[in-house]
Amino acid sequence: MRFTLLGSGTSTGVPIAGCQCAVCQSKHPRNFRNRTAGLIELPSGFTILVDAGPDLRHQCIAHRVTRIDAVLYTHGHADHILGTDDLRSFNFISRKRISCYGTTETLASLRRAFSYIFDPEPMYLGGMLAQLDLHDFEPDGILKIDEATLQVFSLPHGNVNVTGFRIGELAYLTDFKGLPAAAEPTLRGVKHLFIDGIRYEPHPTHNSIDEAVEIARCVGAERTYIIHTTHSVDYETVNPALPEGVELGYDGLKLAFSA
Ligand SMILES: [Zn+2]
Ligand SMILES: [Zn+2]
Ligand SMILES: [Zn+2]
Repeated sequence: MRFTLLGSGTSTGVPIAGCQCAVCQSKHPRNFRNRTAGLIELPSGFTILVDAGPDLRHQCIAHRVTRIDAVLYTHGHADHILGTDDLRSFNFISRKRISCYGTTETLASLRRAFSYIFDPEPMYLGGMLAQLDLHDFEPDGILKIDEATLQVFSLPHGNVNVTGFRIGELAYLTDFKGLPAAAEPTLRGVKHLFIDGIRYEPHPTHNSIDEAVEIARCVGAERTYIIHTTHSVDYETVNPALPEGVELGYDGLKLAFSA
């Protein structure tokens, strides 16, 4: 299987529009971060998008995504769902509907934000609406998408719950603060860990970088990639300062992994 990190930035993206700080003015390519999202390609070519944020169109063009068969939504925050309308492009290409997976809580947010797609006007006369099928799943357990088996678990993120998952050698944990003890055994010894670590300063609903590093150490992750980082995180100063086996995730990071 292959994984591509389509975006590694926090909800505003980096640079933040209008911000004059050094990181937002930086020309270093890894200080350009689209909203956090990922792409899983199965050996058959079946492709699962992880979150459809507001940068989806740009991400698909930049990373030459030609196929999306399914979407796994981690939660219903704007930076993870607002690209949903752009899934239409992949309906046009494949002439197939796209299966969208989320917990009941996540799908409720998606239905609210995109009521024109999921509850269309009977007399609608515009262009083709996105052709999406919603599938809910239990927050903790096994989720099968095509040939892929994902172990899903719930992560605390303020007053919403976020879906974290492990698929073989890879785990993806965005938008949360503090790992619930119940999720630890699922993550033990994971080879590639993508984990929210927004910045060094503490945050009420996201791990700090130090908290993320501690979780990675605790579960014995081989290789850790910090994601969902904000504009106080300068790639050139923070990345070299991270402990062995830990690095900042960056847009376009690609790796191969096994089931
Ligand atoms: Zn987010
Ligand atoms: Zn800034
Ligand atoms: Zn969030």
